[in-house]
Amino acid sequence: MLQSKLPNVGTTIFTRMSQLAAQTGALNLSQGFPDFASPPALLAAAVKHLGAGHNQYAPMTGLPRLREQVAAKIAGLYGRSVCAEAEVTILPGATEGIFCAVQALIRPGDEAIVLDPCYDSYEPSVELAGGRCVHVPLTLPSFSIDWQLLAEAITPRTRLIFINSPHNPSGALLSRADLDQLAALIRDRDIYLISDEVYEHLVFDGAQHASVLAHDELYARAFVVSSFGKTYHVTGWKTGYAVAPPLLSVELRKIHQYVNFCGVTPLQHALADFMAEHPEHITELPAFYQAKRDLFCDQLAGSRFSFTRAPGTYFQLADYSAIRPDLDDVAMAEWLTREHGVAAIPVSVFYQKAPADMRLVRFCFAKREETLLAAGERLCAI
Ligand code: PMP
Ligand code: GLN
Repeated sequence: MLQSKLPNVGTTIFTRMSQLAAQTGALNLSQGFPDFASPPALLAAAVKHLGAGHNQYAPMTGLPRLREQVAAKIAGLYGRSVCAEAEVTILPGATEGIFCAVQALIRPGDEAIVLDPCYDSYEPSVELAGGRCVHVPLTLPSFSIDWQLLAEAITPRTRLIFINSPHNPSGALLSRADLDQLAALIRDRDIYLISDEVYEHLVFDGAQHASVLAHDELYARAFVVSSFGKTYHVTGWKTGYAVAPPLLSVELRKIHQYVNFCGVTPLQHALADFMAEHPEHITELPAFYQAKRDLFCDQLAGSRFSFTRAPGTYFQLADYSAIRPDLDDVAMAEWLTREHGVAAIPVSVFYQKAPADMRLVRFCFAKREETLLAAGERLCAI
């Protein structure tokens, strides 16, 4: 009998809730993806490059012209001049970037610190490398870092800390002061960082994204991952990138070349075209998603859910204590889907051990206006 290397892992909650939404015909505000069209110019560029015969392997590290675009964006937004050749690697999804970075860093017996609630791919990646995750809860309701708890979690075995800002599922943002505090904490230690910044362009209310790319001391020991999927409304393209100092990038690439070898060629061409021709896309993105957040939250304000508006990401948490305090969040997400036609994600699945009294579900507002209005109407009727 094969002994599972991941005995505690089943089908992810995102797959389960999307399937349930499809089965029941519910509005799917669970798994994070847009239900609106991708930018027409981006789709046209993809078609053009398919037709132009750009259908063979891309370079292992990504098309130079796309890496140049990413480097230019980083210089413009975060003031860092990264070398496109040595520091930027295009990957089939941020998920692979996280996986490869973990494999590069973690040896059997090492510990990686995750801040709960955290994204579901971190822990299995660490376990497959023979490491162990140490879970440090974020402080509710703001989902901020408890520095004392984090300091106490560090041991001589700690090799890696994951951070994720803007944060899935809460939408919380780390500030520059948080990054400074983190730098001070790991300064004299052999600890690396994976900074998951896939929602880097989804920050609201005039806030600025505090990127590790803008922080010299942290960047020196970091892998920063991002995803074209979130930024360009093409989650199904599974195209992302990792940025890391040259020596770290060398190690990441050694693994990437055997996990996948390279990303999808015509899509990389299309993204390079679109980034060059439509620089306004990313500057307009905060307002685009803030309007969706506000439309959804204005609806939700008429319901018995309570919430504070997400500072970032395309997710909105909502507390249902006033509606069904008897249900845990997994049961609540199912009940909402089956009985009220709106699928959501329970927040406890992002935890090793969620607070027993937590009554939160996550809604994705990367949806058309009519989807958000219809969902709002159903949620207000509960
Ligand atoms: N990290 C976080 C926090 C995410 O929400 C996602 C979205 N799926 C990913 C990583 C993975 O991104 P990708 O789809 O590019 O692999
Ligand atoms: N990142 C997406 C979310 O949080 C899910 C991606 C996936 O299904 N793996 O909803």
